[in-house]
Amino acid sequence: MKKIIQDFSFNEIFQLSKRFNQPAFRAKQLYEGVMQGKNISDITTLPAAFKQQLLEEFEDCPIEIIRTLTSTDGTEKYLFRLADGNIIEGVFMKYKYGNTQCISTQVGCRMGCKFCASTLGGRVRDLTSGEILAQVLAVNALHGGTKEKRAVTNLVLMGSGEPFDNYDNVVKFLRNVAAEEGINISPRNISLSTCGLVDKMYKFAEEGIPLNLTVSLHNTTDEERARTMPIANKWSIAEILNACESYFAKTGRRYIFEYALIVGENCDSRHADELIALLKGRPCHVNLIRLNSVKERTLEGADEKSAYRFLGMLEKGGLSATLRRRTGADIGGACGQLRAGFLNENAEVQSGHDDNQQ
Ligand code: SAH
Repeated sequence: MKKIIQDFSFNEIFQLSKRFNQPAFRAKQLYEGVMQGKNISDITTLPAAFKQQLLEEFEDCPIEIIRTLTSTDGTEKYLFRLADGNIIEGVFMKYKYGNTQCISTQVGCRMGCKFCASTLGGRVRDLTSGEILAQVLAVNALHGGTKEKRAVTNLVLMGSGEPFDNYDNVVKFLRNVAAEEGINISPRNISLSTCGLVDKMYKFAEEGIPLNLTVSLHNTTDEERARTMPIANKWSIAEILNACESYFAKTGRRYIFEYALIVGENCDSRHADELIALLKGRPCHVNLIRLNSVKERTLEGADEKSAYRFLGMLEKGGLSATLRRRTGADIGGACGQLRAGFLNENAEVQSGHDDNQQ
């Protein structure tokens, strides 16, 4: 694979242009074109010879939207194709206060959570920082966003992959996406979700990136958590809570727990009591999620009434909690489902089992 220009910061593009004997204003034009989501070949301000030189080293189009699904509620889901043919997915959600894009950090995932479609085929590879950034640039451009008025205002790192399992690329991405001369999305408008890689949580607290740190908790005891989340065999809930406190101490940002309600696993009144005991008085918020059922998985999500009952118990116990609004349920549910569906479809076509082919 060739290099990816979106991996480069403004300074690095400046150095690169110098190597090609181009003046500083060319570096600026190149960087601005890239930040507008353009392919190198489509940046009209650059001379053809310079573009030709660049294209010998760099991918023209590191990421391409190959399918868009639009929900009745306005949510959009995308399949992106990377330069090496790998497929990732993303989501774009419209809210009153702005638009949130959900981005992927790896092709697949190796964390093995029992409810999640992203991990079904394991991890294929890490995304580079530029491939993560290119998802944002492509969707911003799709919605007519400019540097002055971005169409994407908020980001959640909640697509496929475990961000802290691709630590260096994710941190580089977070710095590049926040660059003032670039698309300039500040950490305060970014949520990073981890299944709880505690060593990386401590390391991240030292980076000086004050974002919304979110941990997928999904249960109240280590034994029960390990039934759906293998990572619980490595790090305990107590260790996670200490790491969250450290992040709060360093950044002043309160942290968030995600808790997907799964029938028979984590949502009876005993779990509510235990969650209250664990979290009461801490500077945190609980985001309850109604599980999106995954075809390949047998776990069942709590219904709406039980979800509200569980929420009521947490609130009565003094926790700050919300039930996450369900978006895009009609277009392929959660994390990894769209990609898994696409890969299945293509496997069927290739092996001749597709109905339309027969
Ligand atoms: N690897 C990271 C981020 C990706 S998943 C993490 O584990 O946090 C983003 C969130 O979606 C996580 O809280 C994850 O547990 C949740 N999730 C995964 N599959 C889901 C499903 N089928 N229904 C609802 N939430 C799901």
